Amino acid sequence: MKRAIRASALNATKTRRHEENIFCSLLRDFAASWQKSELIGAALIAATVSSSAASPSRVMILDGESGGPYHRWQVVTPVLKKMLVETGLFTVDVVTAPPPGADFSAFKPAFTQYAAVVLNYDAPDARWPESVKTAFEQYVQNGGGVVVVHAADNAFPGWTAYNEMIGVGGWRNRNESAGPRWFVQDGKLISDSSPGPAGSHGTRLPFVVTVQDANHPITRGLPKTWMHQGDELYASLRGPGRNMTVLATAHSDPANRGTGRDEPQLIVVQYGRGRVFHTTLGHDVNGVSSVDFVVTLQRGTEWAATGAVTQKVPATFPTADTVSYRADLAAMDPIYKNGLNPLDAPRR
Ligand code: ZN
Repeated sequence: MKRAIRASALNATKTRRHEENIFCSLLRDFAASWQKSELIGAALIAATVSSSAASPSRVMILDGESGGPYHRWQVVTPVLKKMLVETGLFTVDVVTAPPPGADFSAFKPAFTQYAAVVLNYDAPDARWPESVKTAFEQYVQNGGGVVVVHAADNAFPGWTAYNEMIGVGGWRNRNESAGPRWFVQDGKLISDSSPGPAGSHGTRLPFVVTVQDANHPITRGLPKTWMHQGDELYASLRGPGRNMTVLATAHSDPANRGTGRDEPQLIVVQYGRGRVFHTTLGHDVNGVSSVDFVVTLQRGTEWAATGAVTQKVPATFPTADTVSYRADLAAMDPIYKNGLNPLDAPRR
């Protein structure tokens, strides 16, 4: 009986060899190894199984609310999904939370089924039932990945664990009780505990992003500086900053209502066994179409999900003095037809 099964497998393999079907490589390896010895076969099967462990990671994009109509999560989420799916590294489900005032009793995202949760979501403290907050904390504590996009760092100002995950946040009445402001000076992370509100930005203009930690998997191989497409440059964010590494900063220009400091833009945080990648970039489709946003979100999500980054840096990555954006992504915004840069009018 065992011999018959072997013969059958070999016959099937011979047929498929003629087809030269690349997707049958597992079966080919399987049968070819049996021609040598079962021991080698077992080794090859093990190798195949370990390479299939690199099959796509399940990623959840969570959206459903923002602090105002200026954050059009309904338009941004499909763009985030497209840039993640196109890597071939992720399968992506979108989970949309109920709107404000709706019944949340059936809102129970299956966090543990995902390698990473991408938050394109900004809601006040009272929104989620305690059971959902606890489930999310346990998910991250036990090794779940989190990606925080732009105004997701405005969410939940009073949820202690969430603020530890994001490292720093802004708005929604955050002040010195949220923690100090954090910035980088001469390559060192500095905290400023002086009182005041958290969160500011100027007019949306292109700006330079500077890598502060080139040895992290997310930033390894990126240029030292690059131009980011017109976007809000978040500044004066406050938070516990615990287990936080600032990967890249941008200079907040006082001429554009800035702080004069090098403000964190790409951040990683370790929370329990969970990895958090936090990008302050990405106000709108225009911002997330910037090639550097795309690349850092793709790499940051892979790192949050797996702890490693396997993606190469594309040749289209922006340079120190030239922005680079994805027209195919920008065109997913209905207002793109009105022009690339529906940015704030310059102030005089
Ligand atoms: Zn914004």
